[in-house]
Amino acid sequence: MSIISHYINGTIVNATNARSQAVLNPATGAEVAQVALADQPLVDQAVAAANAAWPVWSETAPLRRARVMFKFKELLEQNQEKIAALITREHGKIFSDAMGEVTRGIEVVEFACGLPQLLKTQFSDNIGGGIDHWNIRQSLGVTVGITPFNFPFMVPMWMAPLAIACGNSFILKPSERDPSASLLIADLLQQAGLPDGVFNVVQGDKVAVDALLAHPDVAAISFVGSTPIAQYIHSEASRLGKRVQALGGAKNHLVVMPDANLDQAVDALMGAAYGSAGERCMAISVAVAVGEIADALVAKLKPRVQALKVGDGMAAQVEMGPVISAAHKAKIESMIASGVAQGAQLVVDGRGLQVAGHEQGFFIGGSLFDHVQEGMQIHREEIFGPVLCVVRVPDFSAALDLINRHEFGNGVSLFTADGNTAREFSRRVQVGMVGINVPIPVPMAWHSFGGWKRSLFGDMHAYGEEGIRFYTRYKSVMQRWPDSIVKGAEFTMPVAK
Ligand code: NAD
Repeated sequence: MSIISHYINGTIVNATNARSQAVLNPATGAEVAQVALADQPLVDQAVAAANAAWPVWSETAPLRRARVMFKFKELLEQNQEKIAALITREHGKIFSDAMGEVTRGIEVVEFACGLPQLLKTQFSDNIGGGIDHWNIRQSLGVTVGITPFNFPFMVPMWMAPLAIACGNSFILKPSERDPSASLLIADLLQQAGLPDGVFNVVQGDKVAVDALLAHPDVAAISFVGSTPIAQYIHSEASRLGKRVQALGGAKNHLVVMPDANLDQAVDALMGAAYGSAGERCMAISVAVAVGEIADALVAKLKPRVQALKVGDGMAAQVEMGPVISAAHKAKIESMIASGVAQGAQLVVDGRGLQVAGHEQGFFIGGSLFDHVQEGMQIHREEIFGPVLCVVRVPDFSAALDLINRHEFGNGVSLFTADGNTAREFSRRVQVGMVGINVPIPVPMAWHSFGGWKRSLFGDMHAYGEEGIRFYTRYKSVMQRWPDSIVKGAEFTMPVAK
């Protein structure tokens, strides 16, 4: 059985006597490899390598750092299918979806290619007394990315390209459930000319995360994952004086107004609720049907959900793959049971689905609930599976209030034909990423990604200009030359003269 190991200072590191755990193919349930789980000494080794590589890399000219990104982008494009196949094998999502994930990750690398322009700062000429004043943005040192299972390539790409391009060194701690993409990233970065030690991979679980959190030489941590862990990472890193951004879970609503094009709304809901088996932080898990439209909406959704083609993500024509693990499948099934117990109407039940030839796979069919009430567990909590809940509300205000009362605020969508409603909604909704007739409004690489409320802990969103700010420190510089220095000490607060 092959071991998926760590990558430190440009080489694969196989720790002896290390713990490991199985990595499974969710479509078959079979073990594809073991992943090593780092301990404290291994983490220390990675941080030491990253710390040693940082000074030279941070002094490397921004244009030269950007050129590594250009080459990396080219290599990623050449290897796109290979990366996507790895994702499908360990995550389960369908191959075309995995290709899309890789594309969205490459877009951040493209953004990082513009680094010299992005690092340009502000200059004030002659603020008084022959003094000029400007600011610069400098790298932080060793930065860390801790990432979730659901985007094993794209989420690391939200972090590493910008951290590295900005002159930091970086340690990736990928999800232990689908860790292989991380080593391919490492290999391609090395081929692109990145000096050893600038990008490192530590495989592992809580032990590795806690060692990274506690390490005094780690300057900043970017985290993406579930809300309880995001909150933990944020509070621990803050307590230890580190810069931190921690993106958490979600419960994303899509509002269907009575004037919406129903067929378009149904298409949008099908893709956004059941794509990637609902295992996206931007998945739509609640359809909010406003007024009279509810019966027609559910009537159109029902046959579409029943007809979903579920199977191995590598097979042609399949629309939805398995979920990540047997435990996660059981959790989704128990959430469905709780919805039934709490009185929601289960219109389509995806439990008990068997995929021929894949009896050990972690498959579950699409499920659809109607008459879901606010406060039911299936509305309150993130299910992270192919389950769509329809909540019926009388009007636009009730839809807005329902969403704004929810503890999560990651993504939201509104389907309407009315510009005023759209404008009102996007201004008043308490959610970080809004789509109008767009079901999954994941921001482009040159904007920034992040939710509100308990979907993000920290001040800065991921990638885009917020990412550049996160991975750099602001320094203000004032300068004058001896000819403009007036003789004598000044004991009053300096002001512009
Ligand atoms: P997770 O929180 O279980 O794991 C995320 C990372 O944290 C992994 O690397 C894991 O090894 C580590 N980890 C897990 N338990 C830990 C612990 N007790 N202490 C320290 N580290 C720990 O999340 P997941 O199941 O891999 O991913 C799914 C979750 O991620 C969902 O809640 C989803 O909404 C969220 N997510 C959010 C975004 C976003 O942008 N807001 C994007 C993708 C996924």
